[in-house]
Amino acid sequence: VLEIKDLYKSFKMGNQVVDILKNVSMKVNKGEFISIMGPSGSGKSTLLYLMGGLDKITSGAIAINGNKLSSMNDSTESKMRRKDVGFIFQFYNLIPNLNVEENILLPVLLDGKKRKDYIKKVDQLLEIVGLSDRRHHTPRELSGGQQQRTSIARALINDPDIILADEPIGNLDSKTGTGILELLRDINRTKNKTVIMVTHSKESTAYGNRIVNLKDGEICEDSSDLGGLCLA
Ligand code: ATP
Ligand code: MG
Repeated sequence: VLEIKDLYKSFKMGNQVVDILKNVSMKVNKGEFISIMGPSGSGKSTLLYLMGGLDKITSGAIAINGNKLSSMNDSTESKMRRKDVGFIFQFYNLIPNLNVEENILLPVLLDGKKRKDYIKKVDQLLEIVGLSDRRHHTPRELSGGQQQRTSIARALINDPDIILADEPIGNLDSKTGTGILELLRDINRTKNKTVIMVTHSKESTAYGNRIVNLKDGEICEDSSDLGGLCLA
């Protein structure tokens, strides 16, 4: 469902250009649950943002379901991104003055679609994430775990093939975090969604079936390949 080839990403720092991602290539098959690991600053979030089309590639290519990200104009790209990819953030990124239902509906309303066509879908999603009784609450009235569940439902509203999650449990206690990981695993298994999750915790990699390790912007280990070890 997702293929990355010879990807580079550089940022200007003062008058220097620094490569943050170098020569990254990987193939992701439908239904995989990948954990991306690596030290702080190794480029994990940058890689995930590029996969989600939230930032521009410097060189190389990313294709989702065969469509190259960089070859499309911005509005096509953002529409496709909302259809193919759902994003989950460490700090949930919910809109504070919208309630749970409105937050979940936001991606489809942004595409100009009608609320009434998605109400059934919202019912189902609330059921899946266990928030049917919190529909009219605002984020401030929810626990961290409930806010993350809301953002997972939002990520699923367009029924995307791919869920991208940047440290989805980084801000949660371990029990709540386990519940979120179990939810992601259920969605991966029962709905056959591809999940790509950035995580700092070795334990959470147990929920997935493949580990990709980044170091200084390069993949130094991919458990789907033979060999390749991240040497200290
Ligand atoms: P962490 O585990 O701390 O979240 P990370 O692996 O997610 O780290 P990134 O956020 O991808 O790391 O950042 C990788 C590097 O790219 C860092 O050195 C960061 O300073 C740099 N960087 C990220 N975004 C930008 C930007 N918009 N402009 C300049 N440099 C950036
Ligand atoms: Mg990060």
